[in-house]
Amino acid sequence: MRFLVDGMLGGLARWLRILGYEVRYDASAKDNDLLTIAVENNMVLLTRDRELHQRAVAKKIVSSLVVGETEEERLAQMASSFGIHLETSMAETRCPECGASLMEKSKSDLAHEVPEESLKLYTQFWKCSNQTCGKVYWVGSHWKHIRQTLEEAMRLARLEQ
Ligand SMILES: [Zn+2]
Repeated sequence: MRFLVDGMLGGLARWLRILGYEVRYDASAKDNDLLTIAVENNMVLLTRDRELHQRAVAKKIVSSLVVGETEEERLAQMASSFGIHLETSMAETRCPECGASLMEKSKSDLAHEVPEESLKLYTQFWKCSNQTCGKVYWVGSHWKHIRQTLEEAMRLARLEQ
């Protein structure tokens, strides 16, 4: 399942990438562009715009009107609507910034890219495979925050069932 996300849902696009899904997100794409991209690439359209959602449905595009106000509520809706798994690991996650896959790297490869303190504290590091992005990630405190958000989303998804 691949997702096309409208300009109002940048946060959700990042979360779906963290969960390992392929996501296309272009904040400047117009409604007509989004409909064309969804049809041509057989993508699921996620939007906050009721009119765009209705136009997509009329064109037989799989579309979801995202109604939640928080990232947790939106993720819970994705789990209920599409059965996405609200669990992830660094091995599965994609770069939240650009959606490319991540590659595990050794500390010596990253000596100039990661703060010394983080190199001391953590053992595993990943780098985005997209050379123009190239962001480096490690299982630090932000990972704990990711877990907490996903756990809350799972709780909400169970309530909706
Ligand atoms: Zn990237």
